[in-house]
Amino acid sequence: MINTERLISTFLDLVRIDSPALHEKGVADHLCALLSQRGYDIRIDDAGPAIGGDTGNVIVRVPATGPGDAIAFSAHMDCVPPCLGIEPVVADGVIRAAGNTILGGDDKAGIAAILEALFHLEEEKIPHPELYLLFTVCEEAGMFGAKHLDFSRIKAREVVVLDAGGDVGTIIVRAPSKAGITLTFHGRSAHAGIEPEKGISAIQLAAHAVSRMNLLRIDEETVANLGRIEGGGPTNIVPDSVTLTGEARSQTGSKLLAQIEHMRLCCVKAVEEFGGSFDFSHEISYPAMDVPAHSMLLHRALHACNNLNLTAAVKGTGGGSDANIFAGKGLSCINLGIGMSRVHTTDEFIRIEDLVKSAQLTASLMQR
Ligand SMILES: [Zn+2]
Repeated sequence: MINTERLISTFLDLVRIDSPALHEKGVADHLCALLSQRGYDIRIDDAGPAIGGDTGNVIVRVPATGPGDAIAFSAHMDCVPPCLGIEPVVADGVIRAAGNTILGGDDKAGIAAILEALFHLEEEKIPHPELYLLFTVCEEAGMFGAKHLDFSRIKAREVVVLDAGGDVGTIIVRAPSKAGITLTFHGRSAHAGIEPEKGISAIQLAAHAVSRMNLLRIDEETVANLGRIEGGGPTNIVPDSVTLTGEARSQTGSKLLAQIEHMRLCCVKAVEEFGGSFDFSHEISYPAMDVPAHSMLLHRALHACNNLNLTAAVKGTGGGSDANIFAGKGLSCINLGIGMSRVHTTDEFIRIEDLVKSAQLTASLMQR
């Protein structure tokens, strides 16, 4: 059986340690202390210096005690703000934060479940294949830990990520690729009262381009949004520069590129009509994840849910996670719902029952 008391205290200890993105060292040190006293092989990779953080990813290798291919389990150590000085409160089987902070169940519930599953297998002497535990940094700020993770010493070809909302039994198998988009319009400044006809308004250019764009929901798997507009100055000057930043996402790479090209062509048309010029750039932030229906990992997860009487729900999501990065590296990957609720808000909570179910499901997936 899962040791519920220990699981809760592991979780509470973790959420009390401050760990905004790039400052996860407290959690990394805590995990190293906890695992090294049990004799595990722990390594911190070079992601920290590479991304300007105070620690790298924590990678734990657990030697096989039974047959089967190696498998990895992953959760991220960083939290979104406000996440300093979190004081968890347990009442009626639910854990919340006392003050005006998030709880940090995203993703410390994932870390706690992985640790408890491992301790359970070890104490009950349940055989398992070689395991890798990947505790990443800087997921929330753009999955920079996962992007810099050193895979050369990780022999697992399958990764179970514990970082999705929804009931335990939720299995995320699809997540879109995302591109960041920046477009800057260049007009010509002129005195707005004396000779405005000599100017080209960058704001007008931007308005004409944006009014031509298909945005928001494009189709069932493609979305686009402009999130910010910056530029201009005093009202008596025709503005010569305005910058818009946005993003597009799609499950299908060709659709993502088509949407980006559509947005660029709207800019072309605007400057053809009104003069001026523009710079347009996009950067793919992360690749899509798309687990095939015949995936062995997915089948084992469904089987494990069934054995534990969990209602399995195989789903897609519109958000990204470390799972996208692992999938992009060619690993077989699923992202599990761990019951964390109202994440990224100060109303975040998690039920103890869900912590326990996550640990049970993880322990089951660690066995072959
Ligand atoms: Zn998360």
